[in-house]
Parts: sequence; C-alpha cells; structure tokens
Amino acid sequence: MNRRDFVRLLSLGSASALCGCSTLPHLHSFEKLFKKTNSSQSEANDIAEVLATPAQPVLTPEQMTEEFLKDARTRSLYFSQDFPEDILIHGRKFELMQGLVRKFRAVQRHVGHGNFNLLGMDEFFRLAQTASGAAEVTSEEKLFLEEMFYFDAKLYGFHGEKVFHKMTDIVKPGSTVKIPFTGHFLKRGEPVEIYNKIKKDVGNTVLVTSGVRALAKQYHLFFEKALETNGNMSKASRSLAPPGYSFHGQGDFDLGRKGYGYRNFTDDFAKTDEYRRLLDLGYVQIRYTQSNLLGVRFEPWHIKVPA
Ligand SMILES: [Zn+2]
Repeated sequence: MNRRDFVRLLSLGSASALCGCSTLPHLHSFEKLFKKTNSSQSEANDIAEVLATPAQPVLTPEQMTEEFLKDARTRSLYFSQDFPEDILIHGRKFELMQGLVRKFRAVQRHVGHGNFNLLGMDEFFRLAQTASGAAEVTSEEKLFLEEMFYFDAKLYGFHGEKVFHKMTDIVKPGSTVKIPFTGHFLKRGEPVEIYNKIKKDVGNTVLVTSGVRALAKQYHLFFEKALETNGNMSKASRSLAPPGYSFHGQGDFDLGRKGYGYRNFTDDFAKTDEYRRLLDLGYVQIRYTQSNLLGVRFEPWHIKVPA
C-alpha cells in the first residue's frame, strides 16, 4: 500500500505543496553525539529521546485488520510505524514547524540547555527577538502554535490528559529545584523526595535524564520528533506527548543509568539492573507501561509522580 494513500492528511488550512522532508541539518548519530557532548550530557539525552527508535517487528499484511490497527495497544507496540488513521501535516504548516524548530534551537543555545527546560512561551517569544540565529516569532507562526496547542490530541491517537491548559501557562518560578550535574530541574515536594529516596535505595548509578519541562521545551521536542516523522503527528505523539500533554510539566521525570547513553531511552533500559531495582522498590510507578491504552510507546524510564 502506498504510504500517501495509507496516511490520512490533516487539512489544517490549505496545503499547497507536498513537503516530505526537512531542510534542517540532520541531527548527528547517537554514537557520535555522545562522544562529542560530554560537557552537555543533558542535550544528548534530549536528542536521544527524540530519535531513539529501536528496530521493531514490521506489521504483516495479515495483521492489518481494522480491529487490530485501531487497538491502542497495537499502536504503542508498533509505535514507529504508520497507521491508516494517522494525522499528517504538510505544505505551509510543515514549513512553519521547520522555521519554529530553528528558533527553538537558537533560543536554547542562547539561554543554555538547563534554563530552556523552564521557559514559558511568552518568554520564548521575547528571547527569539534577540537570540543569535533566531528572529521574531511571526503572527502566522503564533497562530500555528496556538492551533497545535488547542488541537485535540485524541485525534492523533494520544489519550493522555492535558497538564497545561493555556498556551501561556508557565512553570511557577521557585517551584523547582536544580539537580546538580544533570542540567535538569525537579518540582519541589514529592518529585524531589521520590528522586532522593531512589538515589538512596538504588545508588549513584541512576540519574535524572529529563525533569521539569515547561511549554517551550515540550513544543521543541515534539516538533523535532514531528520533523523526524515527516509530519506524521500521530506517530510523533506515540513517542512524545504533544505540547500541553506532558506530565513533565507536572512532576514526572525520566531516569537513566549513568553512562548508558541513548539506550536509556530504549527498551534496553528495562533490561538494566537499575530498572529491576526500581521496580523492586515498590513505591516507583512507570507512567507509560507496556501495552498501555494511552497510545504511547513503553517508556520504562519515565517515572510517574501522582498529582
Ligand atoms: Zn519522560
């Protein structure tokens, strides 16, 4: 079956030209990146979360029955494949996403990777005016951002709850704690307490690989993923929550094993001693379990902190 026939196109305004590929410089391979970025491990972790897609079994034609394909568990298991109901953006909308990713990258370089985690959208708009390599966010781009924010993610096939309800919502200043040597922040209170308890019980080989993410960060990660999937927003949402829907905005965080690189964002993490010990602790919960019904891939590294 032709991929173009296979994937349903999202009509978000007029799609004048089909645009299948990104003109952005391609991100480096993980191995190269991890060698190069010892000083910026947190940035490497981010890119790993966007790109770490393990080889998966391919759906056979016999499996492509309507019932099987519509099952959320099938989508979470075969998350990196196309499905008939997938929503795709292309044309002008795809170009807007490319332009915005350039600006997100530039502002992140400008404020530093750690600080970028906490940036609200108004602050991003302000910084884009002056950051080198960025430019003022245009009204067309703002409309597109708004449209993306208020789009019902259930239509992508993503069934998680919304955490931020307005595009201008922020992470309250002073509500977070910086975790030394990680480039990440955790919410004060229960998230920090759980993390400290885990460190004490599991040891120093476990560390936070992504903590609090305000809206600019989630937009950036989701758009990077959506460029990677050539505009397949549904496929992107099976790996990364759409902006507004990430529990990283509420208190969840990701854990990894020190020195494990991009594999911290693959099923390999579930094979580590650290993961086994996390589960044995009893008080640790995984947000996106195997064959979850939220339409999200299995994320053994993502720790759920109840609201
Ligand atoms: Zn996570």
